[in-house]
Amino acid sequence: MNRPIPTELWLQCPRCHAECRDRKLAKNEYLRCARCGEEIKSPLVGRTIPVAWALSTTGLILMVLANTYPIMSFSIAGNSQTNLIYTGIAGLWLQGYGLLSALVFFCVMAAPALYLVTVWYACAAWCLHRRWRGLHTILNIAAILESWNLVPVFAVACGVATVKLRTLGSVRWEVGVFWVILYALCILLTIQFFDRKKLILYVEEERL
Ligand SMILES: [Zn+2]
Repeated sequence: MNRPIPTELWLQCPRCHAECRDRKLAKNEYLRCARCGEEIKSPLVGRTIPVAWALSTTGLILMVLANTYPIMSFSIAGNSQTNLIYTGIAGLWLQGYGLLSALVFFCVMAAPALYLVTVWYACAAWCLHRRWRGLHTILNIAAILESWNLVPVFAVACGVATVKLRTLGSVRWEVGVFWVILYALCILLTIQFFDRKKLILYVEEERL
């Protein structure tokens, strides 16, 4: 005789909202949505959220350090200058590259900072078992901002610029470059550990 399955044994697909029957998973087993193929459950799900919380906290501290310490100083034809991330962006603006300057500002300063704030908020809510407001919107914003984190690209570009500038004058790394590299690494690790799918399921549970 077929007995009805209790509702707590059903999971909802975060992408297409199809119902999927929950079951115990062995190591290396995944539960996928039968309709759209989205991964709904894996043995590691949820375990990485506290790590992402710690990383996003560290990332926010590193963001302040990377933006307040000079990255490099150079002297070319008797002209000496010390550069922060911000001074480079302002320089582009003053030279008439408004669009480029806005793009660099968004990808190197605004988007990474906002991304870390959204990850921090969502992970903190999960770790502290809180149903904070706007979690669903926060998770959507995090998904959009994830691909706009170009701090690692900026760090590599600084290295390339130094090589080019050395042919014109003397260039010296400043302590800020160390913070920029750590900041870039911290963001990359946060993206790896941030379990957005588990958090979407957490928000969906609240709505049921
Ligand atoms: Zn699905």
